[in-house]
Amino acid sequence: MASSRNPEIRKDTVFNRWVIFSPARAKRPSDFKSKSPANPNNNASKCPFCAGNEHECAPEIFRIPRDFTSDWKIRVIENLYPALSRDERQQQQLQNPKPNAHNQCTLSGFGFHDVVIETPTHTVQLFDLSATEIGEVLLAYKERIKQLECHESIKYVQVFKNYGASAGASLSHSHSQIIALPIIPPSVSIRLDSMKEYFDRTGKCSLCEIQPEELLIKQSTHFISVVPFAASFPFEIWIIPNDHLSHFHELDDEKTVDFGGLLKLMLLKLSRQLNDPPFNFMIHTSPLHAGVSQLPYSHWFLQIVPQLTTSAGFEMATGCNINPVFPEDAAKVLREVNVLM
Ligand code: AMP
Ligand code: ZN
Ligand code: ZN
Repeated sequence: MASSRNPEIRKDTVFNRWVIFSPARAKRPSDFKSKSPANPNNNASKCPFCAGNEHECAPEIFRIPRDFTSDWKIRVIENLYPALSRDERQQQQLQNPKPNAHNQCTLSGFGFHDVVIETPTHTVQLFDLSATEIGEVLLAYKERIKQLECHESIKYVQVFKNYGASAGASLSHSHSQIIALPIIPPSVSIRLDSMKEYFDRTGKCSLCEIQPEELLIKQSTHFISVVPFAASFPFEIWIIPNDHLSHFHELDDEKTVDFGGLLKLMLLKLSRQLNDPPFNFMIHTSPLHAGVSQLPYSHWFLQIVPQLTTSAGFEMATGCNINPVFPEDAAKVLREVNVLM
C-alpha cells in the first residue's frame, strides 16, 4: 500500500488546486487515528441548546415540528454572536459599493447567521440519529435556505457543521450553522469557474462524470460517497447526488432520508476508524441567483473533512496541501470498516 507508492501531485478539477500525496510522511493508512477525539458531551449543565433552556438562546426562526403543543425535535435559531447583521437597513449600503480613497472596497456587513440545533438531547450526536431524523435536519436546512432566497441581496448560503473543539466547535450540543452572504465567496467562484472549464473542454459535468471505481466507499439509491481523486485532507469524503442538480435546496424531500442514511454511515465509519475525530462538513451548492448558463456544470455535493493534520507554513503559502494518505487507500479502509447502523 502506501510504502510502495511514490509521491504524486494531483489536480483537483472541482476546486482548481493541486494536492501533493506523500505517503513517506505517514504511517499506514489503517493506523490513522485522531489524537484529540472530539469527546463532545461535557458541560451539559449550562447548555443553551438543551430542551428547557430555550430562553437562553437568541430568537427562534422555526422549529420542527411547527406545532408548539408537542416537543421540538429541531430548532433553527438566530446566532447570539452573529458574524453578520440581519438589520434590513444595512441592505441599502450594498448597492453599488464604491472603492474608498485608498482603493479599498467595503460593504455593509448585512447577512444572516443561524444555528440549527439538531436534537433536543445533549448527549445525542448527529450520527446517533436515524436516517429519517438526519433527513429532517437536511429538510430544515432546505427550508431555511428557501426563506433566505427571498432576500434579494443574499447571493450565497453556506451550510456547515463543526464537530469537536479542534474543528472549531465552541458548544458540544449537536448543531450546525447557516451563513447567508451578500457576496459570492472566492472559493465558490473558483469552484464554478473550474467546473465550467471542465465542461467547456469535455461537454460534461465533472461530478456527473466521476467514475468512482477504487475511490468508491458506498453507493446508495440516489447518492455515492467517495474519497475524491485529489483529496486535500486524509480521509476526506464527498457525498454526491447521482442526479445533476445545481442547488442543494432543490433536492426532492423523499431523497433526504437516503442522503441522511449515507451521511450517518460515513460519519460512523470515520468515528469508528479514526477514533471519533473532530470533523467539519460543508454543503457546496451554487449561488442563489445562478444564471441558466451556469446550471449545466454546477452540481452540489457535501464534503466531510476529519481534522487529522495541521495546515502550516507551506500550505498557507502555496494553497497546496500535502496529504499523506492516497485516496484509493483511504477509500479501501473506509469501505472495509464495519459499523452498526
Ligand atoms: P460552533 O462555534 O461551531 O460550536 O457553533 C456554535 C454557535 O452558536 C456559535 O457561532 C455561537 O455564536 C452560537 N451561540 C452560542 N451561544 C448561543 C446562544 N445562547 N444562542 C444562539 N447562538 C449561540
Ligand atoms: Zn445541550
Ligand atoms: Zn452533474
